Formats: sequence, C-alpha cells, structure tokens
Amino acid sequence: MIELKQVKLPIDHSEEELFAKIAKLLKVKESQIKDFYIDKKSIDARKKPELYFVYTILADVSNDEPAVLKRCKDNNICRYEPVIYHFPKKGSLKMKNRPVIIGSGPAGMFCAYLLADNGYQPILLERGMDVDRRTEEIDKLWDQGTLNLKTNVQFGEGGAGTFSDGKLNTLVKDKFGRSKYVLGIYVNEGAPEKILYEAKPHIGTDILVDVVKNMRNHIIEMGGEVRFESQVTDLIFDAGKAMKGVVVNGSETIDTQTVVLAIGHSARDTLELLSGKNIPMEAKSFAVGLRVEHPQTMINQANYGMEKNPLLDAAPYKLVGKGKNGRGVYSFCNCPGGYVVDASSEEGRLAINGMSYSDRGSENANSAIIVAITPEDFDGNHPLAGIEFQRKLEEKAYALGNGKIPVQLFGDFVKNKISKEEEFQYQPCIKGSYKTANLRELFTKEINDAFIDGMYDFGKTIHGFDSEFSLLSGVECRTSSPVRILRDDTMQSTMSGLYPCGEGAGYAGGIMSAAMDGIKVAEMIATQYDSY
Ligand SMILES: Cc1cc2nc3c(=O)[nH]c(=O)nc-3n(C[C@H](O)[C@H](O)[C@H](O)COP(=O)(O)OP(=O)(O)OC[C@H]3O[C@@H](n4cnc5c(N)ncnc54)[C@H](O)[C@@H]3O)c2cc1C
Repeated sequence: MIELKQVKLPIDHSEEELFAKIAKLLKVKESQIKDFYIDKKSIDARKKPELYFVYTILADVSNDEPAVLKRCKDNNICRYEPVIYHFPKKGSLKMKNRPVIIGSGPAGMFCAYLLADNGYQPILLERGMDVDRRTEEIDKLWDQGTLNLKTNVQFGEGGAGTFSDGKLNTLVKDKFGRSKYVLGIYVNEGAPEKILYEAKPHIGTDILVDVVKNMRNHIIEMGGEVRFESQVTDLIFDAGKAMKGVVVNGSETIDTQTVVLAIGHSARDTLELLSGKNIPMEAKSFAVGLRVEHPQTMINQANYGMEKNPLLDAAPYKLVGKGKNGRGVYSFCNCPGGYVVDASSEEGRLAINGMSYSDRGSENANSAIIVAITPEDFDGNHPLAGIEFQRKLEEKAYALGNGKIPVQLFGDFVKNKISKEEEFQYQPCIKGSYKTANLRELFTKEINDAFIDGMYDFGKTIHGFDSEFSLLSGVECRTSSPVRILRDDTMQSTMSGLYPCGEGAGYAGGIMSAAMDGIKVAEMIATQYDSY
C-alpha cells in the first residue's frame, strides 16, 4: 500500500476527480490503481471562502508498488507502514475469581471489552440504568426537572460519554495504535466509518446510545457479565493490603482479586469511600467557567467564510488565552450545532455541560469558556477539597436559577446585572429549563476578570464572540477530575489488585483518553494473568 499525504481538492470535488488526482500524483494510469482508501481528511480554510479538503490516501497499486515509489520523488508519497494494535502476551498466573470493573463509562467499557475478548470473563458493575431506561430518566430531568440521583447524564450505561457531543479527538501520544483500535471498535459497534479518517471525529448522542448497547452485548457474548443498578458501596481488602472483594448495593459481596476503578469524576460518594479507606490520592488542578452560545452561522462565517454549506459540517473552534491576572482561559468541549445540558447529579446542586446529535443540527454552537484553577484555590488541603469547591459552585448555580439553569447575556455579565429574556437576540439551545440570573455571583473576582478578558480576547479571533448578546449559562465545573488516585508502574494502587482507571482517577480527559486508559489497564491485567 502507498501512502499519499496532502492530496488537496476543492470541497465540491467528485470521487472521479479524487481518483484522477491520485493517479496523477502516482504517475500511473487509473486502471493501475486497484483500490484506494481515505486515511485522514481535514479542511484547509486558509483562503476562505475558497475551501479545500486535504486527504491522506492509501492506494493499492499491487505489484507496481516498487516501481511507482521509485518514480515518485515526492516527500508526501511513501510506503504505508501501518501501526497495528496488538494485545500483549499473557502472563502465567491463574485468576482465582473473575475481574470486576466498576463503571461502564468509556474507560470501564473498553477495559471490559478487551478483557472479555481475551478470555477473562469480566463482571462490569454500573450504578446507573441501562441506556434505554437511562434515556427516559434523563428526559424526565430535562423536561420536568426531576433528577434521578443514580441515573442521569453522569451515571448509567456508557458513563458520561453517552449523552455527550461524542467528539473523539485526543492529544494522547499513541505509538501502539490504541487510538485507531478504539475507533475501530466504535465502528464495529455501529458508529459511522468516517470517524476512522476525519480529523475531528464525532459521533453524537443518538448514535452513541446504540453503540454502547452493542458494546454491552459483545461483552456478554464473549463471556462477560454486565450488571446495572449495581453500585459498589464497599471494597474489601485482606490483611496483606490486597483486593479481596467488592460489596454491591450494601448487601451482596463479590469475591475478586482484580478490581478496575473506572468510576468517572462525578462519583463523589465513591471517592469519599476510597478516601475513608486511605487509598492514596491527591487534589489536582482543573478548570471552571460558563458555557457560551453563539449562532452556528456566526462560527461558520468565521471559520469557513460562509454561513452555511451543505458539503460542510457545523464548524468547530478551539480558543486559548490568558487573563490579565495570569489565569489561563480557554474554550473547552466545543459542541457545534449542539445543546447546553443540565448534567447535574446531586440534589440542590446544578452542573451543566454540552452535547450534540450526529447531525450537529441545532441553531447554536456552544462551548465552555473556562479558567484554570489549582489546589491553592481550594479551602484546606484535603485530597477531596476540589470536590467541595465544585459543590459550592453547583449550590450557588442551583440557587441562582431556582433549580433551573441560570443564563445571562455576556453584556449584562460585564455590567453585573440580571438579563431580561426579551432582550435575547437568539434563543438558547438548552436541554433542561433555564432562568435569567446574574452569573457573576458564582465566582471570585479573579475568575470573573479572567473570564471577561478571555471573552474579549477570543472576539479578536472570532468576530462577534464577545458580543453583548452572547448567551452564557452555568455552572461548568466538572471539566476534569478534581482528584488523582495514585497508581504505580503496574497501574495499581498501594492496595494490590486495585487499578484506578480513566477520568475519575485522573488519568484521562475525554472519551478517547478514557477508553485508551481502559485498554492499558486491561493489558496490564493480562500481562499478569493467563485468563480466568
Ligand atoms: C454532557 C457531556 C458531554 C461530553 N462530551 C464529550 C465529548 O464530546 N468528547 C469527549 O472526549 N469527552 C466528552 N465528555 C467527557 C467524557 O464523557 C468523559 O471524559 C468520559 O466519559 C470519562 O470516561 P470514564 O469512563 O473515565 O468515566 P465516566 O464516563 O464518568 O464513567 C464512570 C461510570 O462509573 C459509574 N460509577 C461510578 N461510581 C460507581 C460505583 N460506585 N459503582 C458502580 N458504578 C459506578 C458511573 O455511573 C459512570 O457510568 C463529556 C461529558 C459530559 C458529561
């Protein structure tokens, strides 16, 4: 296979034109090309509104390959060296009991998937409901304001990654091919094939719901067990500080020497349980802020030089800046054509996030604009102090909106006054009810100042970003885990057999990195044990 990089064509090109361009670059007749695949696809908008797709192509010229490569003296054309993922060689120990994975988010799900595929018959325990019943519970929150504490946007099948935007990009370095392997599993379980090559792959909640169900069925087919409404309420260790078992729903004990702790960052009660058991952990930095919504057409105009084009997806953006007081400010979890969602999981506390469907078809783009905070901002130096910091913000947000999502125009945020809904220039795209409020009351002056500086700064990159009519909502404070559960080189805690994993343990910051961490833990378990 030959790899051709930087194959650039106008966005309205036909398949024939792409084929002809590949043949031209390879200096062969079209008939000599047996097949070709798109390996990567991105947009070049530097000359907007003149837009191009830029491809990396894999072309099969069969026996002509050596001659073609010799003829093409071009740095963008070379032999394709695929990075193929391999599960490691198994260890020799026999497992006494089945491994238990706590949490069915991307970390737990992918860990269970690989362990099941390789004969370890894992038991996957999830405190929330299966995804169909979970959808009903989340609709009750968004339509009627009724929060189910066990099943919500944070908890339930697929974890926080299910009712999400489903962006699948990651900055994690990946020389072992885990990232492509994760995407390949998603495609096998129902995600569109284009996620394998798009520069910014995206699935969307409507598809993710089926994908996680298919992943569950695969785990079961391969000998695993998946149990919902099964919250781990205690961990049992033997005298030698090794895992002995877990307690489910306060009553049932499951004996196991291998426990993967893939609990996500919102399982505050479980983190408190671990802290109470002296599992080593430390407070870590994260970021807090507000969601901002703009008309998607405005973002498209800034990125593509046009408000709409049926050949293009809703435009994404990423912005990084610094407040005058030195605090980092950046956009986070941008959801083009998405919705702001009520993502609360505790009574009397309100947290928001962003999601989208596969068509990214809503009128607004949203994104969190967040300000970096460190453990020095927390009260005290307890490892869980960051959780208390989050809780206080969520309580304030709940009070500001009277249980509804508090919203405000950016102009009024600057003026420090409550907005009037009749002054909105466009409607918020929000899942959950909302109420106008003064969001400035949420944060300290330092965080508010940095937020305002960031907004004005971003207005220099995207015209209109800092408009007084930009819509703000809050509070966004579960941007990453406020705590890290320490693990050694074998990915275990000081309690042997306990594997902290994924975002909640502080080793991931998104769907892809959580899934890849789940795979790494499965590999680590496999290097010790031959099977169950
Ligand atoms: C609305 C929203 C949109 C998002 N959009 C994106 C996006 O577009 N792209 C992206 O990369 N990331 C996104 N994220 C973040 C992403 O979802 C998380 O980074 C990722 O899900 C973390 O995976 P995880 O497996 O570590 O934890 P989680 O997904 O949080 O899963 C943890 C699971 O463990 C379960 N659990 C916790 N405690 C227990 C217990 N004691 N017993 C049994 N089960 C337990 C929970 O119920 C939960 O299902 C989004 C998050 C939200 C909330």
